[in-house]
Amino acid sequence: MTRSPLRIGHGFDLHRLEPVAPEGTGRPFVLGGRAFDHPVGPVGHSDGDALYHAVTDAILGALGEPDIGCLFPDNDPRWDGADSALFIEAAAQKMREHGFTVGNLDATVICERPKIGPVRDELAANIAARLGCPADLVNVKGKTHEGVDAVGEGRAIEVHCVVLLCGLAE
Ligand SMILES: [Zn+2]
Repeated sequence: MTRSPLRIGHGFDLHRLEPVAPEGTGRPFVLGGRAFDHPVGPVGHSDGDALYHAVTDAILGALGEPDIGCLFPDNDPRWDGADSALFIEAAAQKMREHGFTVGNLDATVICERPKIGPVRDELAANIAARLGCPADLVNVKGKTHEGVDAVGEGRAIEVHCVVLLCGLAE
């Protein structure tokens, strides 16, 4: 990888939301490592944590590494129902191996419910703990989709994330 003191990465993730099993195929709603008591949950091979997935892809993208789907294929039974903390921690490990540390990270969660505002600090702290960086380098904010399209109708959750990585002195 060409050495650059700063590298930026972008991550995006979306999961369809369905009634939680046994009523439907949704998994229990988990976001940023936090469980929510919610009637619908993400459909996905792992635990479906869209925030952890977007953060993972942002870091991998900054490093020029293959994305989360390449590293943890959704046809591999090892990742069936997996705790997505595994993925974000694997990305953090690669970041350290490449000699980088988190400059700062900003994520936007888009869903109608649950409300993200009241728990944004907790979600940011969870991400920071997984990445091994101070919590104030991580920002999480919530938005709704104004009732339009699948996200606005509560049938999907979407997360966007950008991260800046800073190279450590060699
Ligand atoms: Zn995902």
